Amino acid sequence: MATAPTIPPQVTVVSHPLVRHKLTLLRQTGTSTAEFRRLAHEISLLMAYELTRDLPIEDTEIETPLEVMQAPILAGKKLCIVSILRAGNGIADGMLDLLPSARVGHIGLYRDHETLRPVEYYRKLPEDIGERLVIVVDPMLATGHSAAAALTLLKQAGATQLRFACLLSAPEGVKVLTEAHPDVPLLTCAIDRQLDERGYIRPGLGDAGDRLYGTK
Ligand code: URA
Repeated sequence: MATAPTIPPQVTVVSHPLVRHKLTLLRQTGTSTAEFRRLAHEISLLMAYELTRDLPIEDTEIETPLEVMQAPILAGKKLCIVSILRAGNGIADGMLDLLPSARVGHIGLYRDHETLRPVEYYRKLPEDIGERLVIVVDPMLATGHSAAAALTLLKQAGATQLRFACLLSAPEGVKVLTEAHPDVPLLTCAIDRQLDERGYIRPGLGDAGDRLYGTK
């Protein structure tokens, strides 16, 4: 009997019913571009909620219409969302609805056809990235090589507090990423069965960038 793969401790699979429901709609081949974008946006907002569960808070004195009270507010934690182009933008946009003051960085990587390794073609990051909690987003964690390269590059740029968030993962990608960066928590909405020979996650949802932007 096949046993379920063990999930490394730094991996969280979001189990909220709303996320599971929306992910099912997102996967379906008949979902239109507009609907896909809206669902990705909504799921991203819910992922941001999960990712920020442990943000520090402090008490401040406020006045309600009836009395003065000590009430909790965020303790000035600085955030940065880093989108791996291009599909990461569909996730970053949703997260920004919940985290409107977050800074946004972009990293562009393409896969070299000969070495099959990610090559950087674009990078724009906030200068103070080392002081921020950095949430790196890409909808699909497939081979894991681009995600691992992006995290390496961000560490080299000074980032020390990193998290990675995606909609769907392949077991192969989870292994590559968690072995390369065991210090980085990974949040995913599902871990699918496998990667196929073309590098697609199965059963998956197809090409996330094409579905977000209607390019196929
Ligand atoms: N990227 C995608 O968009 N889809 C996959 O299934 C794998 C990588």
